[in-house]
Amino acid sequence: MSIASNVETTQNRIAKAALSAGRKPEDVTLVAVTKTVGVPQAQEVYSAGVHHLGENRVQVFLDKYAEMGDVPHWHLIGHLQTNKVKYIVGKVGLIHSVDTLHLAEEISKKALSLGVCQNILMQFNISGEESKSGATADEAKRLLEAVSELKGVSVQGLMTMAPIGVGTDENRRIFAALKTLSEKIDAEKFAGVSMKQLSMGMSGDFEDAIKEGATLVRVGTALFK
Ligand SMILES: *Cc1c(COP(=O)(O)O)cnc(C)c1O
Repeated sequence: MSIASNVETTQNRIAKAALSAGRKPEDVTLVAVTKTVGVPQAQEVYSAGVHHLGENRVQVFLDKYAEMGDVPHWHLIGHLQTNKVKYIVGKVGLIHSVDTLHLAEEISKKALSLGVCQNILMQFNISGEESKSGATADEAKRLLEAVSELKGVSVQGLMTMAPIGVGTDENRRIFAALKTLSEKIDAEKFAGVSMKQLSMGMSGDFEDAIKEGATLVRVGTALFK
């Protein structure tokens, strides 16, 4: 299959899932996860109409950024170490994986030194899987309140990952829980905190995520198989 036809199939599946949930297809943004492919394939997916690209490792992102620059909208979706923050702030449009106050503080410091505002999502570990990073839902209110006080970072919403292979019911339970959490946070009206984005769903579960309110789906394998 060509990348262009995979994009078409994936966009059709996104539209179908959105419509089945009474949502507008254009309210769901496809982020092509290019972590397993090189610049030529990243350029191909961009040319096929997917303008949001996601990377999970800082160095791999920087390699692609050196060639492709700011033309794509870049997303950093993987676990981020605080000592790597300085390389990506101001270069990626959205960091999906902020899971501690300490990490948010580092992003804030770097953004202020560059005179930019960095958009971020707060990542939560809804499933409770120990192998997954992400803050726990219990910590949510305190964490968001503290992050809302930082200058130079703007919270746009939440992100989570479902465990692999748990099936539709469990996926939907996890995605619905993230949506509920975002509504609870929204009701707190923390200054400068928006809950408009929900980043959830990958190749194996993006339809479940869209039915539960995903606005950003992070898809790799289905596009580059
Ligand atoms: C790799 C990755 C994805 C994409 O996974 P696929 O199953 O290949 O679609 C999504 N989100 C994160 C955080 C990833 O690391």
